[in-house]
Amino acid sequence: MRFAIFSDIHSNLHALEAVLEDAQKQSCTNLLCLGDIVGYNAFPSECLSRVRALNCPVVKGNHDEEASILKKTGTFNAFAEIAIEYSRQHLSDEEKEWLRGLRFQRQIRDFTIVHASLDTPQNWNYIFNQLDAIASFNYQHSSVCFIGHTHLPKAYIRDGSVQVRPFDSLQMESGKKYLINVGSVGQPRDGDWRSAYCIYDTDENHLSLRRVEYDLAAAQQAVRNAGLPEKLADRLAIGK
Ligand code: ZN
Repeated sequence: MRFAIFSDIHSNLHALEAVLEDAQKQSCTNLLCLGDIVGYNAFPSECLSRVRALNCPVVKGNHDEEASILKKTGTFNAFAEIAIEYSRQHLSDEEKEWLRGLRFQRQIRDFTIVHASLDTPQNWNYIFNQLDAIASFNYQHSSVCFIGHTHLPKAYIRDGSVQVRPFDSLQMESGKKYLINVGSVGQPRDGDWRSAYCIYDTDENHLSLRRVEYDLAAAQQAVRNAGLPEKLADRLAIGK
């Protein structure tokens, strides 16, 4: 089986469409969404409809939670909060209820998916380094777990100690544990503006990171047309 595993779409419909098209061209047989479908960009409802129509497993992200809960937590920074308010206004009650019903983590065959980390997933801890990864590995009972949340594609490999490395192509070995950040579809933050997602070939035990170009100018214009902050359009071009 070939899984296309994608995360952090953040209402960027142009990026989502490009990734789904690429996954099809890459002969992916299964899709998995690691959450943060909404927030930041112009098309929360459209992205949600597109993901729901895929009928694939989805886990909840912190923006999905914040856009759908009844009482705001006030934990977001100013720009994120403006965009989350926009998402709230553009999602129907039924869509919010669907988001509220998402689980934090799921087991897919013999691997795990979660938005942020396995140590208290509902606390939305960020995994930026080996120490953060160790905390999550302590709760990882499967050999492979896929995450998003930081928007930084990276592989954490536990083989006694924990190594961290970027990955384009990774042949997994038995006896090791893998915590894989698949990057972001709709708002990459690793300095590369192109959408990121991961292909997991379970027969070959192989991972590859895909980077996909999308209609950046159209996505930026949509952010401006929606009346969202200019900074949210600008950051798409620099991948920050
Ligand atoms: Zn995110």
